[in-house]
Amino acid sequence: MRNNIDRYLGIYVHIPFCKRKCDYCDFYSVCGFDDSLLDRYLKALIKQLDDYVVGNSRYTVDTLYIGGGTPSVFGGKRLAQLIKEIGKRFDFTPDIEITVEVNPESADKKLFRQLKRAGVNRISMGVQSSSDEQLLSLGRLHDFKTAESAVLLCREYCTDNISLDLMYGLEGQTMDGWIRSVEDIVSLEPAHISCYALTLEESTPMAQRRPVLPDDDTVADMYLAAVDRLGELGFEQYEISNFCRRGYRSAHNSRYWDLRPYIGIGAAAHSFFGDKRYSTIRDVDGYISGILSGESVIDEADEIAVKNRIGEYIMLRLRTIDGIDESDFERRFRTPFDSYAEKLKKYVPTAHAECGGGIYRLTPKGFFISNTIICDVLDI
Ligand code: SF4
Repeated sequence: MRNNIDRYLGIYVHIPFCKRKCDYCDFYSVCGFDDSLLDRYLKALIKQLDDYVVGNSRYTVDTLYIGGGTPSVFGGKRLAQLIKEIGKRFDFTPDIEITVEVNPESADKKLFRQLKRAGVNRISMGVQSSSDEQLLSLGRLHDFKTAESAVLLCREYCTDNISLDLMYGLEGQTMDGWIRSVEDIVSLEPAHISCYALTLEESTPMAQRRPVLPDDDTVADMYLAAVDRLGELGFEQYEISNFCRRGYRSAHNSRYWDLRPYIGIGAAAHSFFGDKRYSTIRDVDGYISGILSGESVIDEADEIAVKNRIGEYIMLRLRTIDGIDESDFERRFRTPFDSYAEKLKKYVPTAHAECGGGIYRLTPKGFFISNTIICDVLDI
């Protein structure tokens, strides 16, 4: 942990382009783009960086995360230029973590070589399942064999700091099938695994076709079974959905969970800076024309009152295995932790929480009902 933590900044860049929309996805991304749109988007990203740089130049960047959408469809050359332009405007720490999200079907040797040369030292890949049947039902463009090849190429030509995403609670997924996916993913030797439950968003094609999904109890059992299996296979659970080999926690995501500042560049990107949250408009064309003509592209800007910051902090920290350090909380917010502590202690006898030495945290069993516990602790 660095001493003067406030000097450091994270940067998130949103690349909202996908080859095709997955059936379950309601993230902002557009399909049907050409090189000229991608070039104009890159130009706008660089211009937005210039707008940010004056006020934030005293910060040193220690995490850079390029997510989407599908950043790999932006192309290695544009991604490398983007990283170079960010490096011209901000100092990077020597050990900066630079992550790029990559989808298996748009990854090749050339892309990984370009990313490595650009300084990328972490790749996050959306594999989602080892079952081709489930990948098809999700509307993904890859099969598991393609994902396996992409991981091998990544290790050979870019980095072995690879994070793989997995989903559970899928149509037709059984407990055995889920654990097989977990084991198949582990056999690819990633440094980090994120596991997310499928949530059906009403506006998506998947929700429209009303699939039969595992019930809530089965989904809860799937989560707990994955926590156990990943633990047996040597992965530390350090956040409700995130597991890693020792030393491979995501520094960028840890910044979010510790309420440390980051700026978001691009359409539909979010920022948390100076106790304010901002988001940019969810419209690629509007973003490009707004940025290039000097108009504001801010969609929302909210000052986060101390009470709400406390709520956010408690919610985010209780999602991590490190939990809340009482003295750190009191130093940060200049307010006693006692009333929150009393509420959390109620969950110790049922093994949903652990308290000791001034540290309050949820157990994996508590993680699964974290929303209920957090609402109780925060009186909401
Ligand atoms: S690749 Fe990712 S962002 Fe793009 S449609 Fe699929 S889930 Fe959504």
